[in-house]
Amino acid sequence: MPRDWDAEIDRWTERFRQVESVPEPFATAIREGWDPIARAGLAADAEAYASATAGFLDQLATSGWGLVRFDARPDDCGVCSRYAGSAYHLDGEDGLPEPPPLPICPACRHTLNPLTPYFMQSAGLDLEDLVDTSVPFDDDAV
Ligand SMILES: [Zn+2]
Repeated sequence: MPRDWDAEIDRWTERFRQVESVPEPFATAIREGWDPIARAGLAADAEAYASATAGFLDQLATSGWGLVRFDARPDDCGVCSRYAGSAYHLDGEDGLPEPPPLPICPACRHTLNPLTPYFMQSAGLDLEDLVDTSVPFDDDAV
């Protein structure tokens, strides 16, 4: 089921009033009110990004690989960036939580990338490290 971006944009506009690092176009909207074109553009971009991400995660799940890492971008907002570097399992297995919905907020474009055995070995990480440092998604956390 597609997400109700209109409702999410309303919810995040309110939520970003309490957050320090507010992404565009929310920062402008909070100062000046929503421009209908900017708002429609944000909803369309968020939906395109959500469906592309869902397709990628479906492929990953089909391949049988469930371990992923949340990679934030430098301009991710204060809510989304708290999950930067956290590990998840697509099915919530191996002691890891399930990943957040992507995108978490309509403005950020973080990614979930597979944590391959090769990567983990070269970074000196084992599953226990990932479990210890994982940040479970909490929709109310700021
Ligand atoms: Zn965000």
